[in-house]
Amino acid sequence: MNIILLGPPGAGKGTQAARLVAERHMVQLSTGDMLRAAVKAGTPVGVQAKAVMEAGELVSDAIVSALIGERLDQPDSAKGVILDGYPRTAAQAEALDGLLIERDRALDFVIELQVDEDALIERIVGRYTCAQCGEGYHDRFKLPKVAGVCDVCAATEFKRRPDDNAETVRTRMAEYRAKTAPILPLYEARGLVRRVDGMADMDHVGEAIAGILDKS
Ligand code: ADP
Ligand code: ADP
Ligand code: ZN
Repeated sequence: MNIILLGPPGAGKGTQAARLVAERHMVQLSTGDMLRAAVKAGTPVGVQAKAVMEAGELVSDAIVSALIGERLDQPDSAKGVILDGYPRTAAQAEALDGLLIERDRALDFVIELQVDEDALIERIVGRYTCAQCGEGYHDRFKLPKVAGVCDVCAATEFKRRPDDNAETVRTRMAEYRAKTAPILPLYEARGLVRRVDGMADMDHVGEAIAGILDKS
């Protein structure tokens, strides 16, 4: 099973992808995570992407599609992938079709997480992760069970993304509206789109997604 999680920044794609990894052993392919790793490692891709990401703009289609292609060739992704944050433009959607066809694979679903714009700012500005294991948290919606201690690995250091601030979020949302939302009708025409209420609490969103995957 190969699925796309589609939705604006803060919609809950990463949260739900992590859940599918834990519950169904699918593989999460997040271009945002791949790019952040490249920035951290100082690779040529990272050097090119850093300023673009900090501005909240989109990294070039060629770069992100190449990252996904490499990742699809690793044996673990044969189990089925969750594309989280890719594709984000019509050119990327087209590139993805090619990447999948070349590998004899197909898309099963495009799951759109629908969230009110007003809620997204609060979600993004309150987002943080464990510095050690990457578990996601939120200042208001998902606090660690013991204050300041990661539920998963007991680390006490956390981090926030440099692009998770109120100004950059507006650019990221504008990019979503202008370049990403228009790919939905293309998938709609192929009968692949399923809509989920992303305003529900995390568990309910997870159940709604599970219901879609189990019906197939
Ligand atoms: P995305 O990957 O789409 O940008 P995330 O999964 O990182 O979004 O979620 C953004 C923030 O909102 C995180 O801090 C996460 O804990 C929180 N969050 C995710 N889903 C929900 C939800 N259904 N209700 C409330 N907060 C949520
Ligand atoms: P979010 O889920 O909050 O939107 P991501 O972690 O998916 O954030 O992406 C962070 C940034 O990385 C984006 O704002 C963009 O600069 C870059 N990026 C990630 N995925 C893509 C993509 N598919 N195409 C272009 N840029 C991307
Ligand atoms: Zn942790």
